[in-house]
Amino acid sequence: MLEARIPSGPIEQQWDKCRSEMKLVNPANRRKHSIIVVGAGLAGAAAAATLGQQGYHVHCFSYHDTPRRAHSIAAQGGINAAKNYRNDGDSIVRLFHDTVKGGDFRAREANVYRLAQISVNIIDQCVAQGVPFAREYGGLLDTRSFGGVQVQRTFYARGQTGQQLLLGAYQALEEQVASGTVTMHIRSELLDVVIVNGRARGIVTRDLVTGHIDCHAADVVVLATGGYSNVFYLSTNAKASNCTAIWRAHRRGALCGNPCFTQIHPTCIPLSSEHQSKLTLMSESLRNDGRVWVPKKKGETRAAKDIPENERDYYLESRYPSFGNLVPRDVASRNAKEVCDEGRGVGPHGQGVYLDFAEAIHRLGLETVREKYGNLFDIYQRITGEDAYTVPMRIYPAPHYTMGGLWVDYHLMSTIPGLFVGGEANFSDHGANRLGASALMQGLADGYFILPYTVPDYLASTALDPVDVSHAAFTATKAEVKERIEALVAVKGKRSPDSFHRELGKMMWDHCGMARSDAGLRKALARIPELREEFWHNLRIVGGDDELNQTLEKANRISDFLELAELMCRDALDRTESCGGHFRVESHTPEGEAQRDDAHFSYTAAWEWQGSGQAPALHKEPLTFEYVPLSQRSYK
Ligand SMILES: Cc1cc2nc3c(=O)[nH]c(=O)nc-3n(C[C@H](O)[C@H](O)[C@H](O)COP(=O)(O)OP(=O)(O)OC[C@H]3O[C@@H](n4cnc5c(N)ncnc54)[C@H](O)[C@@H]3O)c2cc1C
Repeated sequence: MLEARIPSGPIEQQWDKCRSEMKLVNPANRRKHSIIVVGAGLAGAAAAATLGQQGYHVHCFSYHDTPRRAHSIAAQGGINAAKNYRNDGDSIVRLFHDTVKGGDFRAREANVYRLAQISVNIIDQCVAQGVPFAREYGGLLDTRSFGGVQVQRTFYARGQTGQQLLLGAYQALEEQVASGTVTMHIRSELLDVVIVNGRARGIVTRDLVTGHIDCHAADVVVLATGGYSNVFYLSTNAKASNCTAIWRAHRRGALCGNPCFTQIHPTCIPLSSEHQSKLTLMSESLRNDGRVWVPKKKGETRAAKDIPENERDYYLESRYPSFGNLVPRDVASRNAKEVCDEGRGVGPHGQGVYLDFAEAIHRLGLETVREKYGNLFDIYQRITGEDAYTVPMRIYPAPHYTMGGLWVDYHLMSTIPGLFVGGEANFSDHGANRLGASALMQGLADGYFILPYTVPDYLASTALDPVDVSHAAFTATKAEVKERIEALVAVKGKRSPDSFHRELGKMMWDHCGMARSDAGLRKALARIPELREEFWHNLRIVGGDDELNQTLEKANRISDFLELAELMCRDALDRTESCGGHFRVESHTPEGEAQRDDAHFSYTAAWEWQGSGQAPALHKEPLTFEYVPLSQRSYK
C-alpha cells in the first residue's frame, strides 16, 4: 500500500532523474485540465500560481477572506537555504545532514535531500519577486542562525518573513487571477473530498457567508491546508487553523503519517490566565543573541536584575556547550520544562524561563538589537506590558507546528490517487522534530518547485474519465456533508464548542504534549471517546446552518479534532521510543535525552481509517539511512 516512489540512483541525482523522466502536458492541452488547490497560504498560493502560469485551469479555495490572511503570514524568523553566502562551511549536503539529524532520523532521506537542493532556488525566486529580505550594509542578503545548526543560513525580513514571502506568493497568484487561469473561492471551506473510481475528483465546500453547500469537480485535488497544532486549543497557530481538510481526506482513505509528531516551540510568551485562548510566539531568531537562564535557587523571589551572575543557571550553555542557546527546539523545550518542574521557573506561575538581552545590548548596542528584533520586542511589550530592553523576556514552550500530516510519496501524492498534499498539511520532511526556518522552505519547495512537476506528470500519465458534479459520488458526498452539519445544529445541548475544545486541548497538552507516558496516553485514550460522545449529545450552537455562523464553523472543526486527537494518542502510545518532539518518559538516556529505538521504530507510521469507533490499521514505511549514518543525536 505504501509505495514511496523514491527514484533509484545516487541521492544527489534522484530529483533530476525523476524530473527528466516525468511526462509533460502539451501547452495547448493544459487549458483542458482543471486543478483544485485548497489553501492559499505559502504552499497553496505558490502551487496555484505556478500551475496557473503553466496554463491549467486552477480553482483555489480558502476559508479566509483573502489569501493574505493565511496563517503563513505569522511566520517571523526566517527561511533556510544552503546558499553559503557567508562562506561559513554551508552546503546542500550540510543542510541535508542537519535536517535528517534535527528530525531525529525519522524522515525520508530522498525527500530531505531534494528539499536542501531546492532551497537555493527558493531564495532566487523570492528575490526575483521582490521579497525584501534583510540586506547587509553593502547590499548583500543577510543571514542569521537558527537552532540545531552551526552555520548562518537563515534568510529573513525582520520578524515578518512569512508576511513578506506570502505577499510575494499572493502577487504571483493575483497575476494569474487577473489573467484568468486561477479562480479564487474565498470564505469557502472544504468539508469533504469526492472520490470517483478510486481517484480524487473534487471537493464539497460550505460557503461561510451563506451556508450553501457546493460541489466542485476537477481532474486533480491539491491540499495545502496547514497544520493541526490547535488540537491543543492553546497554540501559536492562528485561531482558525484546523485539521478538517486533512481529516476528511483521511476518512476517505488518505493515510495519516506520524500524527503524534508535534513540535512544542521553546520561545513563546507564557500563559498568563486560564481564560486565555491564544499563545504568542517569540521567534527562535531571538536565541541568536538572547541568553536563556533561570535562578539556581528553587522558589527564587528576587527580580531578575537582583540575581547576581553566580546565582544564575545558563543551563543550555552549560549543558550543550557546542550549540548553547541554539540547540534544536525539542531539546530547548524539554530543558525548560525540566528546570520549571524542579521549581526554578520564573514569572507568576513559575512556568517560564528568562531570555535575556542584557549582554547582547552591551556588546552590540541598543540600536543594533532594536534593528534586528524591534518588532518582536514591541509584540512582547504589548502583550506583557514589560520592556524587554530593560528586563529579560519570559518564555515557555507552546504547541507550534505539526510534523505529522497526510502521508505522501516522493511525488507528494497521498494514498488516494489524484490527491496531492503540500506544506504543513503533509507528513513532511522534518521527521520527529522540525528545525527552525525549515517550514517556509518546505512549503515553498512543495508549492513552487515540486507540485508543478508532479501534478502535470499525473495528468499526463493518467486516463481520466470526464466527470462533473452531476456524478452520483458528488450527490452522495454532498448529502453526507449536509447531514453532519444539520446534526451539529440539531444537538441543542448546553456546552459551547469552546468548552469542549478547551477540555480536549488540556488533555492533549497533559498527556500527548512535551512528555508522554504509557499511563497518561491510556488515560487520554479512555477519556477522548467519552468527550466525543458528550459533544454529540450536549453541544450548543446558537444560530442556524444557512447563514454566517462562526460557532457552527468552530464546532464542525472541533468534531474533527476530537477524532484526530485519538489517533495522535494511539500513535504516541504505539511508538514506545522517544524521538525528537515525541518524548516517551520511559525511554531516555542516562543523561535524560530522548532515547530512540532504531531496531523497532525506524519507520513512518501511516494510519488507515477503518470507520467511526473502529481501531485504525497501522502501515509502516521503513526508513533507511544510507547517507546520514544513524547516530544518537548530540548537541553537547
Ligand atoms: C507564529 C508562527 C511563526 C512561524 N515562524 C516560522 C518561521 O520563521 N520560519 C519557518 O520556516 N516557519 C515558521 N512557522 C511555520 C510556518 O509558518 C508554517 O508551517 C507555514 O506557514 C504553513 O504554510 P501552509 O501553506 O502549509 O499553511 P497555512 O499558511 O496555514 O495556509 C493554510 C491555507 O489553507 C486554507 N484552508 C485550511 N483548511 C481549509 C479548508 N478546510 N477549506 C478551505 N481552505 C482551507 C486556509 O484558508 C489557508 O489559506 C511559524 C509558525 C507560527 C505559528
